[in-house]
Amino acid sequence: MSRKTDVVIIGGGPAGLAAGIYTSRLGLDTILLEKTSLGGQVSVSPFIENYLGFISISGEELSKRFFEHAKVMGVTIHLGEAAEKLVLDSDPRKVITNKGVYETDAIIIATGASRRKLNVPGEKEFEGRGVSYCAVCDGAFFKNKIVAVVGGGNTAVTEALHLAQLVKKLYIVHRRDDLRAEIALKDRLLSNPHVTPLWNTVVEKIEGDTSVTGLILRDLKENKTFKLDVNGVFVAIGTVPNSKIAADAGIKIDKEGYIVVDKNQETNIKGVYAAGDVTGGVFQIGVAVGEGIIAGMSAFEYVTGGWYSKKKKLKPVKIDLEKIQPISGKEKPKFKFRL
Ligand code: NAP
Repeated sequence: MSRKTDVVIIGGGPAGLAAGIYTSRLGLDTILLEKTSLGGQVSVSPFIENYLGFISISGEELSKRFFEHAKVMGVTIHLGEAAEKLVLDSDPRKVITNKGVYETDAIIIATGASRRKLNVPGEKEFEGRGVSYCAVCDGAFFKNKIVAVVGGGNTAVTEALHLAQLVKKLYIVHRRDDLRAEIALKDRLLSNPHVTPLWNTVVEKIEGDTSVTGLILRDLKENKTFKLDVNGVFVAIGTVPNSKIAADAGIKIDKEGYIVVDKNQETNIKGVYAAGDVTGGVFQIGVAVGEGIIAGMSAFEYVTGGWYSKKKKLKPVKIDLEKIQPISGKEKPKFKFRL
């Protein structure tokens, strides 16, 4: 599909969806491109306990709510469509995808970050055959088996807590002698009798036949290697930003690959914004949402020329709350008003 629009948002995680809710509700024609599934990394989080308003919610459920909200607010969401190239020196700009070309005034890049790899022998070979980067996606395959989770951050511990409910035995392999995860998560994990931490330990090799059978680990204190029999290994050692499309188009990135933005979430190119994990900083859903909102409002000002400008005809979003199907099936909209 190809067409002209006011704003193209690349990425359907919390930052992209929050940006879309704002641009669309403010009256801009908004297309959001998401190459895989909505929600980004949030959608595969086993549980979330620190997003305001939700004491505990699964990543999948929260992502569904974000998606529903964006859809109701009029964002045109193209799932399975990947942005491949940005042409920023033309007027209007172009976003070239695997399915077409969009001409657009503003672009918001919210492409997030991907899991960092261990880069050890066996990792690539056994990916999908015992090596996993997603406990929610693959945990069920390891019911009553032995697994290791590698990493010491919030992701590793959240995933380990999810897996510990399913598996017979879980090792957490970390290169330090303590976890960096939040105390609330850390305490819960380390008090679980099925969990054994292997401190000051790194993975040197992943071994297997048709699937993973074990890890060759190095004890950094003793400087000795040893074998650990496991049926699976979950790698959760941080993330790398998905900024290649931006860098290729001349958008400034820092030395770690994160997109550089100002306080309006604007990149070094006017009318091109970035938000969420791809810009680095604090990796939290609330922060991604906040940055998405700033990017959306900045894009609105850029496209329209400002709040009082009459330069652009805006499309008000019509919402009939009576017609909205509540996602959980429990709560119904309480207020009768039209936006
Ligand atoms: P992270 O906080 O960067 O932690 C990565 C962990 O992996 C660190 O313990 C690090 O060790 C280790 N590590 C990095 N490279 C390694 C390597 N090559 N080999 C072995 N170990 C390695 O990453 P994350 O846990 O994926 O979390 C990403 C961000 O999302 C964080 O800011 C996190 O707070 C946030 N997040 C938040 C929540 C939540 O709020 N509940 C949940 C998930 C994620 P060192 O400590 O030695 O560097």
